[in-house]
Amino acid sequence: MGKKHVPFEDRLNKITHTGCWEWTGGLDKDGYGHYYDQSTRLMKRAHRIAWKIYKGEIPIGVCVLHKCDNRKCVNPSHLFLGTVADNNRDRDYKGRTFRPFGNKRSHGIKDSELPWKVGQPCKM
Ligand SMILES: [Zn+2]
Repeated sequence: MGKKHVPFEDRLNKITHTGCWEWTGGLDKDGYGHYYDQSTRLMKRAHRIAWKIYKGEIPIGVCVLHKCDNRKCVNPSHLFLGTVADNNRDRDYKGRTFRPFGNKRSHGIKDSELPWKVGQPCKM
């Protein structure tokens, strides 16, 4: 201890017209909020921390996804649990197509075809 620790909620800007709680701390390369977790001494994605604080534990292999599509948002009511495949379907649905295999295919990707194993710890 001794080191100054910024409480999680001090990093939020809740005043947005969308109701999003935007993360005002650092962002990672993908644009997600980053938070230093004292207990594990690791940088974690802020919206995952928010889920743990407000909703509870995240099962292994499960992603915390955004309903609002705002990666900086950590409002637990804008978040939902899903799998990597859910996230891909969600992106397809929203028209922001995620293509793990280049431009060849963007629809109907099965879990078994993903470049990562379903069930591995998800960082989202
Ligand atoms: Zn939001």
